[in-house]
Amino acid sequence: MLAAGATQPTLRGRLVNLGSTGVVVGVHGVCLLAPFVACSRRVLALGAISYLLQTLGVTAGYHRYFSHHAFKTSRFFQFVLGWLGCAAMQNGPLWWASGHRRHHRFSDRPGDPHSPVIGGFWHAHLGWVLSGENDHPDLGNVRDFSVFRELRLLDRFKWVPTAMTGVVCALAFGAPGFVWGLGIGTTLAFHAPLFVNSAGHIWGARRFETKDGSRNNAWLGALVLGEGWHNNHHHDPSSAKHGFTWWEVDVTYYAIWLLSKLGVVWEVRQPRAWSNAASPGKVPRLN
Ligand SMILES: [Zn+2]
Ligand SMILES: [Zn+2]
Repeated sequence: MLAAGATQPTLRGRLVNLGSTGVVVGVHGVCLLAPFVACSRRVLALGAISYLLQTLGVTAGYHRYFSHHAFKTSRFFQFVLGWLGCAAMQNGPLWWASGHRRHHRFSDRPGDPHSPVIGGFWHAHLGWVLSGENDHPDLGNVRDFSVFRELRLLDRFKWVPTAMTGVVCALAFGAPGFVWGLGIGTTLAFHAPLFVNSAGHIWGARRFETKDGSRNNAWLGALVLGEGWHNNHHHDPSSAKHGFTWWEVDVTYYAIWLLSKLGVVWEVRQPRAWSNAASPGKVPRLN
């Protein structure tokens, strides 16, 4: 079944998708070279930085900014966020935001492009991003961002940022840099946010009685830089902060907060007032 807004895949669409899948598989394959290259602190640091920047590109950029307008920023930094998210192999910012807005509109109902409740775990994790069915969706729900030519170019030439990650890492530290910076850093940044779509709607606690299967999951929160507080997010999608209490670690929000102090982003949206009525006694009350 096609997701809402998706069009029937053409032969060309399927071929493009085969290419996309090939790139994703290829980058995963680079990880297998890790035992054969020299490992050092600096290449481990490179892998960690690569993971952090690309994951923030998806969590702060693709998700909280492009999909939900959780803060404002300049046209230049908007492009930086789009580039970093695109490097993580989850297609361009317009494609991602369009699909994610449909996810919130149809959460865990027909029309949701990645519901594990409807399509199963692997469809929600990998199938939706690699499927030819979703290759050319109707982008009518992201006209707020599709007016920017540079973002349309990112969507069109979506593999350029990933390729540039490989080039920069190889130039910096040779083959070990290529393997750790592109292979391992990008593969982890590819999977981490996808776990929110799959595991984030299956495993964990529900603080709020939302109309979907979203969950709050601490290990997912840590792995995906705060995105694991997904039930909080479905309750209040426009908030830049997904961790609603001090102990709900939300690294993406800390980064957004830091960027706001530096004047790079502004008008950072905070959670609405909420009560702990959904889970009495389990969480402290805010406000
Ligand atoms: Zn969700
Ligand atoms: Zn969202």
